[in-house]
Amino acid sequence: TELDHIRNFSIVAHIDHGKSTLADRLIQLTGTVAERDMKAQLLDSMDIERERGITIKANTVRIEYPAKDGQTYVLNLIDTPGHVDFAYEVSRSMQAVEGSLLVVDASQGVEAQTLANVYQAIDAGHEIVPVLNKIDLPAADPEAVKANIEDVIGIDASDAIPISAKSGLGIPEVLEAIVKRLPAPKGDRNAPLKAMLVDSWYDPYLGVVVMIRVMDGVIKKGDRIKMIQTGALYGVDKLSVLKPQMVDIAELGPGEIGVLTASIKQVRDTRVGDTITHEKKPCDKALPGFKPAQPVVFCGLFPVDANDFEDLRDAIEKLQLNDASFSSEMETSAALGFGFRCGFLGLLHLEVIRDRLEREYDLDLITTAPSVVFKLHMKDGEVRDLHNPADMPDLTYVDHIEEPRIKATIMVPDDYLGDVLKLCQDRRGIQMDLTYAGSRAMVVYDLPLAEVVFDFYDRLKSVTKGYASFDYQITGYREDHLVKMSILVNDEPVDALSIMVHRDRAESRGRAMVEKLKDLIPRHMFKIPIQAAIGGRVIARETLSAMRKDVTAKCYGGDATRKKKLLEKQKAGKKKMRQFGKVEIPQSAFIAALKMD
Ligand code: GDP
Ligand code: MG
Repeated sequence: TELDHIRNFSIVAHIDHGKSTLADRLIQLTGTVAERDMKAQLLDSMDIERERGITIKANTVRIEYPAKDGQTYVLNLIDTPGHVDFAYEVSRSMQAVEGSLLVVDASQGVEAQTLANVYQAIDAGHEIVPVLNKIDLPAADPEAVKANIEDVIGIDASDAIPISAKSGLGIPEVLEAIVKRLPAPKGDRNAPLKAMLVDSWYDPYLGVVVMIRVMDGVIKKGDRIKMIQTGALYGVDKLSVLKPQMVDIAELGPGEIGVLTASIKQVRDTRVGDTITHEKKPCDKALPGFKPAQPVVFCGLFPVDANDFEDLRDAIEKLQLNDASFSSEMETSAALGFGFRCGFLGLLHLEVIRDRLEREYDLDLITTAPSVVFKLHMKDGEVRDLHNPADMPDLTYVDHIEEPRIKATIMVPDDYLGDVLKLCQDRRGIQMDLTYAGSRAMVVYDLPLAEVVFDFYDRLKSVTKGYASFDYQITGYREDHLVKMSILVNDEPVDALSIMVHRDRAESRGRAMVEKLKDLIPRHMFKIPIQAAIGGRVIARETLSAMRKDVTAKCYGGDATRKKKLLEKQKAGKKKMRQFGKVEIPQSAFIAALKMD
């Protein structure tokens, strides 16, 4: 395809503003997918994405569009995830395209991730076409949202296109705008091959599939290629475009986006941002490349049934074939036995992986408290990364501890501002900025990541009835007075429940935790002390009194089926129990105990 007949673009938006629905309409209106194969959020291929209605991996589709000028254009759309954990996916796909559709819900206006994502597009030098979605809603106010876009983002919104991705209204105008208002890619067909490795994933039938954007030159099936950063050499086995299913193609020239397979063993062998060139006639300069995504949240994953350990190991290996940003290391816990310490890009990433392990591999798992990476400055000058509170060394060897801090941007209607400020303050936040756009406030806080990883989103949502939006970036490390708090159940330390906590918060956190555990642990035939301690010092204590456990007692008479049901239920519950010394703790207690409120 000639360069001037190609348009590459992404869609950026806050979560739920309608990116995926718009992508569906673009695909549908251009007949890219046969009507009978059409389903909602077509590009969201993973089950979890469909169920939760979120886009996790960026997805790509090539659309052929016969424009009003009589010419047919190739449009390459990259749908990006809107969630903060996957910001990294957004930034890399931005580099592969020249323009963005900025989708803003006309009944909501600009939200925190609208801002974060559009800034990434602006940084990548994109031309931006604002699109006002959901104008079918009675609450839609396109004029106010135009002003809001100009006000908060600072781009011209006078030509914003009003649409309803749901009904299809305005979609033809969006297609025309893509052709008319977004620039064609640039590139030199006769120069040596230079292609960007945009993404890679594992396909059970094809092995590793690599998505590329050709900058210069031409790539063909059978070519010998070289990845400049890794130095690896491969032969191109298959070259395709995504429609969105793979359709083979003879060659890809400048400006084009497609996928290749080349007998690559693991996703780890590919480096996103790497430059692909020909082995024989390489390009002289590599593309700048991206910095690799670093896991920022760690937790332990343990099988409820110790016999499932090997299955868990297999499942983790399989998932890692596809997701190089998720790390794992074997871990042993006195309380939980053998498991893995895993690292994730954020809390949602953690939940997605845990869900997939439980669902796709049929495993019952215990997840320990999510923890950030602390930096331990030892007295001998060594600096250590602490991924697991259980590995905290004796304090006499530690000079000081640093923790990661974030810059959090929260947008919220005026009415809820007070609650948001209180929440941030409670989480050791330092207010950096507070501005208004109409009746919405934008507040910027410097917060410890550790205070955000567990349930900050949940709390934020509940105190603002879902009206706040949130985005963050990690800014660096800072020293603070951090300690390890241990939990003892029946005088046995439950290592999976230890957490790193600020000294000033330790008492209240410890108190909340033992109170919760008292409710969460079923009564036993003996009384059970539950304690929180720092070092050898107990800072909070509760006692669970003894009880005779006879669940069927309350089913009087001869109702045998009811009795049977109860016993079955109890048995199922057992499966999710874990033995600690003489005490059984249900799996649900681990997560629940670590929630703060
Ligand atoms: P994404 O998170 O930005 O990909 O958003 P989705 O495309 O998944 O849409 C989020 C929700 O908004 C879904 O329930 C859609 O059905 C709904 N939605 C999307 N576009 C429209 C629209 O134009 N009008 C209305 N009323 N709802 C829409
Ligand atoms: Mg989506």
